[in-house]
Amino acid sequence: ATMPPLLSAIALAGRHGVLVKSAVVMEQLADTDVVAFDKTGTLTEGTPRIAEIHLIADSGHAEDTLLRLAAGAEHLSEHPLAAAVLAAARDRGLAVPAAHDFASTPGRGVAATVDGRRARVGSPTLLDDVARVDPQVHALVDTSQAAGRTAVVVIVDDAPAGVLALADRVRPHAAATVTALTTLTGTTLALLTGDNPGAAGRLAAEAGIADVHAALLLADKVDRVRALQRDGRRVLLVGDGVNDAPALAAADTDVAMGRHGSDLALQTADAVLVRDDLTTLPAVIALSRRARRLVT
Ligand code: ADP
Ligand code: MG
Repeated sequence: ATMPPLLSAIALAGRHGVLVKSAVVMEQLADTDVVAFDKTGTLTEGTPRIAEIHLIADSGHAEDTLLRLAAGAEHLSEHPLAAAVLAAARDRGLAVPAAHDFASTPGRGVAATVDGRRARVGSPTLLDDVARVDPQVHALVDTSQAAGRTAVVVIVDDAPAGVLALADRVRPHAAATVTALTTLTGTTLALLTGDNPGAAGRLAAEAGIADVHAALLLADKVDRVRALQRDGRRVLLVGDGVNDAPALAAADTDVAMGRHGSDLALQTADAVLVRDDLTTLPAVIALSRRARRLVT
């Protein structure tokens, strides 16, 4: 017996590194009108590095102290930025100290008690009043973001202590994927990110995406997916499940990154890019359309 077209298509997609979870998903991929991407770990390689460490003058911390406290607060976080902080501490031979009372807020940052001090590491747009009004913090954050970096503020015992400027690289085939999606499938594209507009804009320009939504919290990402769904348009969202799980759930079709994706995202996603290879995405949408023509 010959295999039904949708099942053949699933098998073929699998050989190209796309795990499509069901025949229903294989069929609905054909209806995609908008492809939206999460940024960190999806359009970027997801292994950011600390490019610069800026100390707040008069805060009294040396770079190593700042990194030690930040690493202590970050070591229980699964966010890619946390991995960058830990890597920088390790590169300097710093031991990661124990942390107590760890708290993590998605899209915002982490806090923990380290060496008897309350250390917080997180997004500059969501700082408390103490840091928000500090002109030094402002200047350092603005300069970093204008350079396309992700700026993260370190606060120790309620006083701003430093700004970490982090850099991530666009995935090698992101631009080719965007071109293929546009020309082969006619879908429109969008970028959704919790990162700042400077870093998001630079990355989007490198990838060739014009519709950029930055500085989004978890709930904002869901709202943007709903906005993209206006007029019945079908939205496919590609993400890693880190700080974007509710948005992935809101999309018509959600696709998880296989290597960088969280365990939950791999389990619940409609499809998985097993090798984190974005170029397989336009191919699988085209495949879905061919398979459906054979079905109907
Ligand atoms: P993205 O949309 O690019 O995947 P997220 O929504 O995960 O980004 O995070 C948005 C912002 O929140 C980050 O750019 C950073 O400023 C802050 N943030 C989130 N988690 C952490 C963390 N563990 N350490 C430091 N900053 C964090
Ligand atoms: Mg993310």
